[in-house]
Parts: sequence; structure tokens; C-alpha cells
Amino acid sequence: MAITHNLGFPRIGKNRELKFALEKYWRSDISQDTLQQQGELLRKTHWQQQANLDYLPVGDFSFYDHVLDTSALLGNLPARASQEGNTLDRYFQVARGRSAASDCCHQIAAGEMTKWFDTNYHYIVPEFDENTEFSLHADVLISQIKEAKQHNQQIKPVLLGPVSYLWLGKSKDHTEKLSLLDNVVAVYEQLLLRLAEEEIEWVQVDEPILVTELDSAWQHGLKQAYFSLSKAPVKLLLTSYFGELKENLHFACELPIAGLHIDTINAFSEIEKVVDWLPSHKILSLGVIDGRNIWKTDLNACLDWLEPLAERLQARLWLAPSCSLLHVPVDLNSETDLDEEIRSWLAFAVQKLAELEVLATALNQGVLSVSEQLQDNAAAILSRQQSKRVHNPAVKIRVAGIDSEIVNRNSVYQNRAEIQRDIFNLPLYPTTTIGSFPQTKEIRQARKRFRQGELDQAGYDDFIKNEIKLAISVQEEIGLDVLVHGEPERNDMVEYFGQQLEGYAFSQFSWVQSYGSRCVKPPILYGDISRPAPMTVDWAIYAQSCSDKPVKGMLTGPVTILNWSFVRDDQPRSETCLQLALAIRDEVLDLEKHGINIIQIDEAALREGLPLRQSQWQAYLDWAIYSFKVSANGVQDKTQIHTHMCYSEFNDIIAAIAEMDADVITIETSRSDMELLDVFNDFNYPNEIGPGVYDIHSPNIPTVDAIVSLMEKAAQRVPAERLWVNPDCGLKTRQWAEVKPALETMVAASRVLRQAKSV
Ligand code: GLN
Ligand code: ZN
Repeated sequence: MAITHNLGFPRIGKNRELKFALEKYWRSDISQDTLQQQGELLRKTHWQQQANLDYLPVGDFSFYDHVLDTSALLGNLPARASQEGNTLDRYFQVARGRSAASDCCHQIAAGEMTKWFDTNYHYIVPEFDENTEFSLHADVLISQIKEAKQHNQQIKPVLLGPVSYLWLGKSKDHTEKLSLLDNVVAVYEQLLLRLAEEEIEWVQVDEPILVTELDSAWQHGLKQAYFSLSKAPVKLLLTSYFGELKENLHFACELPIAGLHIDTINAFSEIEKVVDWLPSHKILSLGVIDGRNIWKTDLNACLDWLEPLAERLQARLWLAPSCSLLHVPVDLNSETDLDEEIRSWLAFAVQKLAELEVLATALNQGVLSVSEQLQDNAAAILSRQQSKRVHNPAVKIRVAGIDSEIVNRNSVYQNRAEIQRDIFNLPLYPTTTIGSFPQTKEIRQARKRFRQGELDQAGYDDFIKNEIKLAISVQEEIGLDVLVHGEPERNDMVEYFGQQLEGYAFSQFSWVQSYGSRCVKPPILYGDISRPAPMTVDWAIYAQSCSDKPVKGMLTGPVTILNWSFVRDDQPRSETCLQLALAIRDEVLDLEKHGINIIQIDEAALREGLPLRQSQWQAYLDWAIYSFKVSANGVQDKTQIHTHMCYSEFNDIIAAIAEMDADVITIETSRSDMELLDVFNDFNYPNEIGPGVYDIHSPNIPTVDAIVSLMEKAAQRVPAERLWVNPDCGLKTRQWAEVKPALETMVAASRVLRQAKSV
């Protein structure tokens, strides 16, 4: 009998109920009791949606983040959180710097936030120092277990494992994280005892670090931790996900645990090895449904390889999604506006669990018992495989025809720079911005009225043109050197392009949690990509017509579009990326043809796509950088290509960034006091660079002195002739009242720098 379970369910709610409740609570519009009731209701609903599973996950719900929950569970919220007040408020303080609107006097530095492995989910980084102590605070988990017990199913609490917990955290002093292991494991031991008192049989312990490159100290940490925990009176199901176990495979199989979960979507080639290595008293949980993407599983193909394994493993086989379903939207049934054909190819969390049930029933009761479901599934899979909307032969031919000819600029940077200097005649330390200007209430309203048909196309276009004109005139007044149109027509830098490309579909409700109450709705890239018509050219032409100064054309790069979408899984990502690259290339060449001489191609998400294992980075960078070059490098020498990245921790990928050969790159550096530019001491970056001089995430207005001093530091690493002055990132989230003085200061600082250089 194959057993079914789930590693975690999306917590945000089908209609983002959790988001709205949280934000109301933070605004002090609802009481904490009301928020707690909403949480309870969501958990109940989610358990009902998992009613067919053999084991219900408990502890996967969170009011903000499960890593922060673990810090709370282990008594490791940072000491700066106020010691009074109730636990949930302290928890929110750490999550976001304050608990509620009324909590004006208890603002603290929020916990640092970072990406959860290679997903777009962000967790609050646990903090450690020499005073760190752990103690058990299991009330929240225990009360949820009691709630779950009302559901007449077996319950499986979900914990983040002690070793991954330490690994994900940050030592604030010189404390060695692994030196805390014994203490943290001792609390887990108490916790497991407590769970046994609740008559819990199985506990899921997530150790996703098993798919990363671990040194021997961390491997040893895992052995030590699970040796101690093996004495607990519960069975541990150790889960790995997001990748292959590789060199960790043998010892993961041999850890003293009762069961192991592997992600067969990402580690298909390891299934046999794990089956061979796993001692015969342990259960094997196979993650057979993709928990990270939204496509239907090919159930018949899955059964083909699963049936012999089920035969071999018998009662030792468990089935689950590959990872927590946190990373997919809740319920496809909400998507009433989605095209029927495309809809038939998709499965969200609820549908994925139904797929799991079909698989288990087929194994347990024979395929005939689910023949109808299997037939329907086969028809959907076939329809997607053969659909003309997925396959566009012309696109495939064009990608196959890409050769090195079209990938490189005609001349090297030095020669191009000379030509460009003559054309643009820019001063030393030229000033520019990253693209967007404030997305005001008026802009959002106009967009909404246009969407709802209250504003016609002509009216909307006039509105946008007016916004562009305003943005240009403000920039001229401020005295910036290279202007932007301000992106008023874009709601989102990926969605805007996706909506104009063939091969993309858009959902209405497929929200996925990004952090706390924030959700994203990635567009769905389902088919071969082509660009039926220019996407930005009219706006760019109009913007340039408003000024004698150069106005940058503004595009999102292929790698960023790819990394921020749900991407088809029927061909390599590299292939899809090249299709996007060709579409952007066409746009770049159209812009150039229409007299746009400076074109920025944002690759904000290039770094995010890096694989979890460093040994696989180069392969990714090779195709990612190649795609960028396909999109950018078809232009003439006189056309200046800019790119922008929202980070500057690229010491480890600087060679790849240089390889892109953009004439100018703007990056984020202000918060690190230009220290991140140290990479340029060792690496001779050949082209121009604009290190962001102020942090756009903060409402604070920078001072001239601060900017001058930052740029002086930058000039110690990169010659002044190759430096630009710009903010860290786009300004869409700011108010005009902040943007104007900040940019005025930036321009003033740049004048000071020029003068200093000319005397
Ligand atoms: N051009 C975009 C903007 O200014 C870039 C945004 C980003 O890097 N995330 O908004
Ligand atoms: Zn940015």
C-alpha cells in the first residue's frame, strides 16, 4: 500500500485571505483575536482540501515565515525584540521591524530577509551570537496539532531540521554556527518527546541542505544530530528537495532515521541508487508531483516507472509532491477567465494533491480503478504536447540558426566608447536613473479604468503620454544627463512584456507567497515565444520627442523574464531563454532603427537563477549570458547598451558579467559603502559602471557629501572616466516628493565631482 502525504500546503489562502488579514492587523484595523481566527479558518480549510491524504501536514502554516516560526519555536527571536507584549507581536517585530501601526515606540531593526534556496520565497534569517541559547516554545505547534486532530486523519508535524536551521542562519559575531548544534538538538529532543505525548507517530524533518555542497563539518553535523534524535520515541521522515543528493546520497540513506524523502522531479536519476542504498527497514517517500511548477503530471508515464518500484518497496513506499506546495498557487478552479485549452494543461496545489491520489489509487487498487482519470490525464498531456499554440516551427528554426556572428558587438568596447563619446558628448560622471518613476495613485487608477473599459485606448494612451512628458520635464529641470520615460505604462517589468509576447498566458488569482503578506503572480510561459509587434517603440519614440537629451529605451532581459515566470517544462530552460532573447533582440533593433541610441536591458534576476550547487553555476551562466548577448549585441557601435542588476554581490560571477559586454552596467552598492566594488581591485572590469549612490528602498534623502564620498570610493577602484552616477534601482515605489530632492542632490553631487576632477 502506497501511503500519501504532503510536505506543506500554501498558507496564503485561495483569495489571499492571510495577506489581507495580516495587513489589516498591522494597520490596527482588526484585533489579534480576529487575526488568529482567520489563521484557524485557513488551516481548517487547507486540511479539508487535503482530506484524501493519509497524513496531514501540521506546522506548515505560518503568519509570516516558517523559518521565523522555527526561531520562535526554539526561543531564538533576537534579543532586540521587545520583551514585553505577546508572542505574536514580538514575532511581527522581528519580521518587519514593528508589530502594528500603533506600535510606534517599539520599532526595531527587522530581521534580514533572504531567498529560500533557489525559490522566490524569502525567509527571515535566524541570528546567532555567543549569547544564543535555545529553549522550547511549542505552544503554537501543539495547539495546531490539537486543531488538526479534529480531521480524522493521521497527523504529521512538519519541522525545519536543526542542521538546516543553523545553516540558514547568520552568526552575528564570531560564533561558529555548528558549535550551537548540541544545544539546538537538545531542544529538538524535548520537542520530539512532547510530540510523542500527543501520540504523534511520524514527524517530517526538512533538511533541504542535503541537496547543497556540504563540507565534512556540516555532514558530520547531520550525522551527529540524527544520531541524537534517533532516540526519540517518534519516527523521523527526513526530507530533501529542490535537487540531487549527489555526494550526500550515501550518508543520507544511512542516517538513523525511519524514512527519507527525495525530489524525483529534480533527482530522477537518483531514484534507483536511493532504492538500492536505503536500508530495508526504512520507508522511501518519493516526491513525484512537481511542487515548484504548475503543469499537470504525466500520470501514465509516472506509473510506468513507479509500478515496478511499488512492487519492490511494498508498504515502504510513500508518495508526495516533490517539495512543499508553498511555491504554487492554491486552486486552478479560481481561474475562470483562463483559456480552456491552457487550463487543461495546468495543476495548482489542490489539483496536484488530486493527482497524487490517482497515482496512489492506481498502485493500491490497480489502474482500472482510475482508468477514467488516467485517460483524461493522457488526453491533456497529449494536447499540450501537440498543440500548435505550444509549438511554432518558425521560432524553433530561428533559434537553431543562432550563430556566434550575431552574439558579439561589431567592435570592442574601447572603439565603441570613442564613437559614443562623440555622439552623446556626456560630461564626466554622467547622471541617470534606472527606469521607473513613482507609480502614483493616478497611474494605477488610469490603468484600472482602462482595464475595466471605462477609459478607451486613445484616452489611456493620452494619459500615459502625459505622464511621460511630465517625467521628462522633471528630469530636465533636475538636470539629469541621460533621461528615461519613467515606465508609467508598466505594472510589472515581466508581465508587461509577457502580455505582448506569443506563448504567454496570464492567470487572475495564481498568487504565490514571496515574503510575509507579499505575493507574486508569475506569468505562465507555455509555448514557443515570438513577438508579434513592437512592445515599447511607440512610447520610446514619444519620450525621445520630448527632449533633446538622450532618453534610454527600457527593456527587461530574457534571463529575468524567464526567472520570474512559471516556465514550460517540456524543453530545457536554456532553449526557452534563447527564444525570449530573440524577441528582445527584435525589440532592441526596432528601437535602434527609430533613433533610440541608448537602450537598457534589465537583468535584475540574473543572479537568482544560479543553481544551488556552485559546480553547476558555469553551465547556467554560459547559456544565460549567451542569451543576454543574443538580445543586446545586434546593435551598431554607436548604440549604447546599458544593463541593470539589483545587487552587486557578483564577485563570484564578475567574469560572466564582463562577458555580457554591456557598455554600461548599473548596480546596487550604496548600502555596502561601495565595499562591494572591491571586486574591481582584482578584476579589471573593462566597461562603464554606475554604482548606485543611494538606497531607493528607504525614504531618506541622501546628502551631497554622502554621494560624493561614495563616488570617491568608487573612483579608487574604477577610473572616473568610466563611472556613472545613479540611484540603486528603479523609483516606482517612491513618492515624487522623495524622488525630486534625492535626484537633485545626486546631480549636485555629480557637479561637485566634476569640478574636483577638472581642477
Ligand atoms: N527598469 C526597472 C525599474 O526601474 C528595473 C527594476 C529592477 O531592477 N527591479 O523599475
Ligand atoms: Zn534594480
